[in-house]
Amino acid sequence: MIVREIIAKSVLAKSQIYDYAINPYVGCSHSCRYCYAAFMRRFTGHKEKWGEFVDVKINAPELLAKEIKRKRRGRVWVSGVCDPYQAEEKKYTLTRRCLEILLENQWPVTIQTKSSMVLRDIEMLEQFKDIEVGFSIATADEKIRKLFEPGSSPIKERIHALDVLHQKGIPTFAMIAPLLPGTDGLIEELSGKVDHVLIDRLNYFYANRIYTENDLEWAKEGSFFIQTAEELKKGFERKGREVRPGPAFRGGVYER
Ligand code: SF4
Repeated sequence: MIVREIIAKSVLAKSQIYDYAINPYVGCSHSCRYCYAAFMRRFTGHKEKWGEFVDVKINAPELLAKEIKRKRRGRVWVSGVCDPYQAEEKKYTLTRRCLEILLENQWPVTIQTKSSMVLRDIEMLEQFKDIEVGFSIATADEKIRKLFEPGSSPIKERIHALDVLHQKGIPTFAMIAPLLPGTDGLIEELSGKVDHVLIDRLNYFYANRIYTENDLEWAKEGSFFIQTAEELKKGFERKGREVRPGPAFRGGVYER
């Protein structure tokens, strides 16, 4: 892993999903094979493969402290094109220090991660008036997880982290996207630990090679996605969990 410290020009960026996004890092050690954020390589001039470099915006908290005074209050997505709790966060604590500033100003926050390191900050998260923490959990099968998300926390750790957060009264959600094979048991495992679930297909094509090399091409088919997504949706709804539609959910049904 090539880690570089960099000086960023800004950190509180406009987002198409929420009002703003904060990305304290460029690159992501979780190295998910389907990662849509891999396009960042082009913008940053990196020749390394996605997952093999991380640029650390060492001035992110100082920048945020200034930018938050100038911008209109809005919901902040932490992060968007990197995982805020990837390995380098342990050393650099940029996410933690940015959250401290958001807390001081009580801006609403949505954290999305695949790392149980978020529990390190739980005492701070409890002090927000408006916060939610989501875990991306696209499979329940560790073998599949290792193939597609080699640098991320094991599934059981993520589910445990959701449980701890939920028990503390912090709103939680699970993002089952991109829906991967091996979801058996997810409904039972997650139902008491999340407030809502998002199911979607997203970017299978980025991981074409993994599907081909592991005889998993059937799991890229629209029929696999539609059937599994519908089963999960019905199962979560039976357990009283809200299922929020992603882009592949149109007119009340999953398509593609
Ligand atoms: S955790 Fe998110 S940003 Fe990081 S590699 Fe995986 S999909 Fe990409």
